[in-house]
Amino acid sequence: MSIRIGITGTAGRMGRTLVEAIAQSGADVVLAAAVEQPESSLIGADAGELAGLGRNGVPVVGDLAQVIDQLDVLVDFTVPQATVANAELCARHGVALVIGTTGFTAEQQAVIDRAASRVPVCKASNFSTGVNLCFKLLDMAARVLGDDVDIEVVEAHHRHKIDAPSGTALSMGGVVANALGRDLAEVAVYGRQGQTGARKRETIGFATVRAGDIVGDHTVIFAADGERVEITHKASSRMSFARGAVRAAGWLVGREPRLYDMQDVLGLRNSA
Ligand code: NAP
Repeated sequence: MSIRIGITGTAGRMGRTLVEAIAQSGADVVLAAAVEQPESSLIGADAGELAGLGRNGVPVVGDLAQVIDQLDVLVDFTVPQATVANAELCARHGVALVIGTTGFTAEQQAVIDRAASRVPVCKASNFSTGVNLCFKLLDMAARVLGDDVDIEVVEAHHRHKIDAPSGTALSMGGVVANALGRDLAEVAVYGRQGQTGARKRETIGFATVRAGDIVGDHTVIFAADGERVEITHKASSRMSFARGAVRAAGWLVGREPRLYDMQDVLGLRNSA
């Protein structure tokens, strides 16, 4: 039987791409419900038409509670406060949850952690296979180059993005900090201006660009005297994230309640 997927944030950039990715995924998964926020003018619209695919017979609804019991898994790319409410609902109804939303506070993350003690949750700052491979490469680069390099993370996204640095940039910094035994909260430097003083070796710098329609570029620079290594990922379409999220949804259903990420889905967790 097909896995029944629901989407929240259906009218958003990722929501529309997810509708398309599910339609391309074949018979293993099916779009069972499409949710938008209650005030949306698109309530009642056909989700397939919204995604530019032609009618698929799934109407956009304004309340997740109305459709939650028709789902095996919810895929949520919305805003943090909506995701947190959706996570609580999924936990109460035994529905697995894939979270693509970024920008959570520690309190919001704690709600997600509680939900993950009741249902399987897969949360990733970036669902693309290429970025997840980069996480692995970054771990390796940090271990090899060690404390002999300056490490900086540079990211660029479209002008509509509302959080910075990107969740992916923070994850990349986290991978590097972990590999070097540093605490990212202590060593991160977000942007620089004015009389900053000389760079301290152990810091990990973050620089942000917001411009045009850039889907998502990330580069981590490992710079020594005389040479530098740069690991770069460039997304040219949201489809890479959407396909990864649909793959995660299929993988997640039936797993033990826990917080998973894309490294688990791709089997990269212990293959260093
Ligand atoms: P977007 O275009 O603004 O889409 C968000 C959608 O969620 C909008 O349609 C919004 O409706 C809707 N929404 C807001 N509150 C809602 C609620 N309570 N219930 C249902 N829908 C609600 O943003 P996006 O570019 O798709 O990105 C969404 C999130 O995914 C962001 O946090 C972004 O950083 C993240 N993201 C993650 C990945 C990844 O791989 N993990 C990749 C891309 C993006 P309104 O417009 O009416 O408010």
